[in-house]
Amino acid sequence: MYCLEITIKDILKASKSQLYSDEKLIKKAWEFAEKAHGDQKRLSGEPYISHPATVAYFLSEAGMDKETIAAGILHDTLEDTEITYNDLKENFGDDVARLVKGVTKIGDLKYDKKIQQARSLRNLFIAAAQDIRVIVIKLFDRLHNLETLNYHDSEKQKRKALESLKIYAPIAYRLGMNHLKTQIEDLAFSNLQPEKYKKVFEFQQKRLKEIEQSIDSTLKSIQKELKHNKIKFRTEIRKKGVYSLFKEIKLNRYKGLKSIHDLTPIRVIVQDISSCYQSMGVIHSKFRPLPTMIKDFISFPKPNGRQALYTSVFTGEGEIIEIQIMTEEMNRYANMGIVSDIETRKNNSIFSNFSSYIFGSSDNKNVEYQRKFMKVPAWFKDMANKQKDMKNTDEFLGNLNKDYFNYRILVFTPKGDIVNLPSDSCPIDFAYYVHTDIGNHLKIAEIDGEKVSLNTKLKNGNIVKIATSPDATPSYEWLNYVKTILAKKQIKYFLDKENRKNL
Ligand code: MN
Repeated sequence: MYCLEITIKDILKASKSQLYSDEKLIKKAWEFAEKAHGDQKRLSGEPYISHPATVAYFLSEAGMDKETIAAGILHDTLEDTEITYNDLKENFGDDVARLVKGVTKIGDLKYDKKIQQARSLRNLFIAAAQDIRVIVIKLFDRLHNLETLNYHDSEKQKRKALESLKIYAPIAYRLGMNHLKTQIEDLAFSNLQPEKYKKVFEFQQKRLKEIEQSIDSTLKSIQKELKHNKIKFRTEIRKKGVYSLFKEIKLNRYKGLKSIHDLTPIRVIVQDISSCYQSMGVIHSKFRPLPTMIKDFISFPKPNGRQALYTSVFTGEGEIIEIQIMTEEMNRYANMGIVSDIETRKNNSIFSNFSSYIFGSSDNKNVEYQRKFMKVPAWFKDMANKQKDMKNTDEFLGNLNKDYFNYRILVFTPKGDIVNLPSDSCPIDFAYYVHTDIGNHLKIAEIDGEKVSLNTKLKNGNIVKIATSPDATPSYEWLNYVKTILAKKQIKYFLDKENRKNL
């Protein structure tokens, strides 16, 4: 994809910063890394610098700050050259040196060896809790390694591809870096299961041809209506990733490809939140929506922080198309996730505040920063929080294993929303995931239309329906059933409160 040689000029050009001081640091890093790697070569035969150069280019394109770009250029110097931490510190300052050290320390996230995987993932959380940019560098490092995977022997290829699918892509997803997640997934999938990849890809192309006309006329009509209503907007046509389509086909098998409405969603990007709702109204007055598919993720953001209005409409040509309405800021977040905040920040101190935010510092001076980091996904804060008590390493590893390593399952709400839970979760986990109040008043659970006991283990693809009652409350017994940290915490919290009341 990016086999063309990346030069320092490309990196600087991609960077949105116009500051001379930024350029100086990046150039210095370039010269330093080039010298340090000397005549080391990649397996492809290219000079080694081509790898960190590409990683830095990705970072630059993603709008990262100068320290991250510099660290991207230097990211393999600690591991692969004579350069020491102190060398980096002297030449580039604390920030860059720490970033490189963080990336080096994480090392490889091995998927096949559970313990080592736990350790390296734990390192990743520690490093990232101090500075989220470490993960971002690591993810782009992996992206480039995937792009150049064919130079490795096939066993190593498979291992790297599997790790990418099982560890890196979910991390990117949970950080909201959706664009990167899709790239990682599709590269890994095409390597792991080339035939399946090809089949799904061709499937997708064929279907795209079928709905091309419909998409086109719908788009034009939407544009006309919005203009007519004096709404300022721009539109994009999105394309679903091949792997993500593959997963959906597997889940959706019996309903067919036609039931997948978000194959090429139309994205409408407007100036502010009220224009989002207004646009939705305009679109619905022209196209009839599917009642169950109208979603307000602006008032109720997705767990990974994404916000938008979603609707699926009948095009009048026998097709149903998904439309996503959002502001520029939401669009950036939808593509870049946590990184979208990094770009807009003006001050580096935001990163030192990140850990104090996570660790719940009582310092309230940085309310603005804290507000921004509200977007840090709950699971991430939760994991980072556990680092507070370092004596509890075993428990931490246990939790990490339970929640983030073991296969996760996807189940559905009656409306078709996907809920992602650790395997062996039960309806109580599900209820708490949906909302604390639903968990606290859970009375009856149904799986696929059948009433079940609350400790029933959920399976992939189950549709779970919860009935609540004001007088239903959690019991101690529930603690034995639940698998998620979230449910456990909420149940304990509720029971503690009750106990205090009864004193
Ligand atoms: Mn590397």
